[in-house]
Parts: sequence; C-alpha cells; structure tokens
Amino acid sequence: IKKRNISVEELVQGVKCNDRAFLAQAITLIESNAQKHKDKAQQLLKLLLPDTGKSIRIGITGVPGAGKSTFIEAFGTMLCEQGYKVAVLAIDPSSTLTRGSILGDKTRMERLIQQKNAFVRPSPSGGALGGVNRRTRETMLLCEAAGYNVIIVETVGVGQSEGMVRDMVDFFLLLTLTGAGDELQGIKRGILELTDAILINKADGENKVQALQTASLYTRMAHVFQPITDGWTVNISTCSALLGEGITEFWQTVRMFEAETKSSGVFEQRRLQQQKKWLYTSIREELEQRFFSQPEMRAHIFACERDILQGKKTVTTAVAELLTYYEAL
Ligand code: GDP
Repeated sequence: IKKRNISVEELVQGVKCNDRAFLAQAITLIESNAQKHKDKAQQLLKLLLPDTGKSIRIGITGVPGAGKSTFIEAFGTMLCEQGYKVAVLAIDPSSTLTRGSILGDKTRMERLIQQKNAFVRPSPSGGALGGVNRRTRETMLLCEAAGYNVIIVETVGVGQSEGMVRDMVDFFLLLTLTGAGDELQGIKRGILELTDAILINKADGENKVQALQTASLYTRMAHVFQPITDGWTVNISTCSALLGEGITEFWQTVRMFEAETKSSGVFEQRRLQQQKKWLYTSIREELEQRFFSQPEMRAHIFACERDILQGKKTVTTAVAELLTYYEAL
C-alpha cells in the first residue's frame, strides 16, 4: 500500500479496524520528517484522538542483558493468550548517539511476533532524542486507536531515556539482576525513584537463592526512597523470564496498581500531568529547533561565539542580541 497515496480517512478506517498494514503506514507517516507528511500525520492523530488512551501503558527498563526481550516475549505472549492485544515499542537512546543500537540489531521477540494479537515496533532510528520521544508517543496513540490495550515501552538505562519513558507510561518496571553483594551500587542512581516495581530476573538454577536475597535487600531498602506514585509502595519481586516464572504475578501487580490508582484518581492525574509536561517540553524543543535552524541566524550565532571566545562580549549580551535578531526575522 506504500505506492498509493492513501487519504487520511482511509488511514483512520484502516487503523480503527486494526489492519496492520495501515497501522504500519500510519506510523511511517508519523516518523517522516517531510512537512506534508507531518501535516497529514497530525490530521490523522486528531481524528483518532477519541479512540486513544484506553490502554495500560507499561514502561520497562534494564541494562543490556538483564533479560528485557526475553521477559517481554514471555509476558506479551501470556497476555495475547489471555486475549489482550499487546503493542511493544522501543526507545533506543544509543541509536541517536551513535550509529549502532543496543536494542534493535538482533532479531528479537520472534515468538511474540507470531502472535496475531501482538504488534512489535523497533525504536525509531536517527534524529535527536526529542524526535524519538514524539514519535514514540504518537505511535502509542495510534496503537491504542488500533485497539491495543497493553502498551509496553522498552528502553535501556542510558542518558535521559528512562525519565522520558517514565513520563509517557502509567507503570514503570525496572528489570534487574542479582550481583555479587554490590547490587545496589550496580543500579544507576535515581532509577529507583522512577519505578513502581523492581523485578530481579534470572531467578532460576544456582542464581535463585541469591535473587531472593537481593529481593529482600531491596525490600528492606524500599522505605528509604520516595515512591513515585502516590499511595503505591514499590513492588519488589523475582522472576525467571526464561522459565516463565513470576510473569503472572507481575501482571497481577500491574492490575492491582491500575485498580488502586484509578480509584484514588492518581492514574488520571498522572496522565493529565504527563500531557501538560509534554506540551511544555514540545514548546521548548520547537523553539530551540526553529532558532537554530534559521539560516539567517547562523552567521550571527557564529559571530557572537567568536566575540565571546575573544573576550569581547558577555554571554548574556550575546543572547539578548541574538534574540532581538530572531524576533525581527
Ligand atoms: P536484554 O538485552 O535485556 O533484552 O536481554 P535478553 O532478553 O536478550 O537476555 C540476555 C540473555 O539472558 C539471553 O541469553 C537470555 O537467554 C538470558 N536470560 C534472559 N532471561 C533469563 C532468565 O530468566 N534466566 C536465565 N537463566 N537466563 C535468562
């Protein structure tokens, strides 16, 4: 269907019927940088907006090798078998920093891809993290409009990607491993404050005892950090993604979280806060992008840079001058 120029109405219908070819086409539109595609993508989103928001959005992070894809495959397959429709999206910060990618290169989740109720989309490649952020959020909305009721957003703990995912999901899971007594040091600072649950994976074979010990260590620690979700205590447990153990229990935790936060109003409140924050982030990014991409500005910016480096101008003066130029354009 790529060859034909599909109308927005056709795309709306196609996405709503969960025709995967149309969904993929709609996502491609969202990912495009061409202005005419951008306009069309926004028209599409606007028409689909009433059909969005009805999923549970789960973020999953963990270092490479923690078992994220094994876990998501087991978890997603279980949900599909229970009749849920599962979309898996990824944010791969490495692909925006270097050409390589941590998440995308290997063939992942082959079993999940076979499920007719699953949709797996790799991380949008290239561009700044801000662009990846927008594209992932908008893809999430498209998936919801297509009827996916569990959305999983996966990332690795690099740079700002974890905070970014936290800001687009309802529930955030850290998948981690047991180490040699230095478990807590191995965890990136700040990450504990973002999570609603910590699962110590690979709790099988010889590793099982140590995984359980790590879990109780975290449990003892849990009261120290401030929970990110009002009224919810971080859930700490073990699992074996490989053996499929602890997966059902994890889903029960998510459902309990959903029930509790919906009845307390925290769920809806967070979504509204996320929308608001997203608005302001987008304004900032758009302004920055416009400012720096103006050809007329470049010479002025370079001149200021030179003057500052030669000690002829202060930064504050330069900024004031540049903004005056910009506003006069
Ligand atoms: P990711 O980089 O976080 O996506 O990790 P992967 O899912 O690719 O897993 C990394 C390695 O750990 C693979 O060789 C998996 O087979 C293995 N693995 C994942 N989960 C488990 C588990 O629960 N138990 C054991 N023993 N190995 C696991």
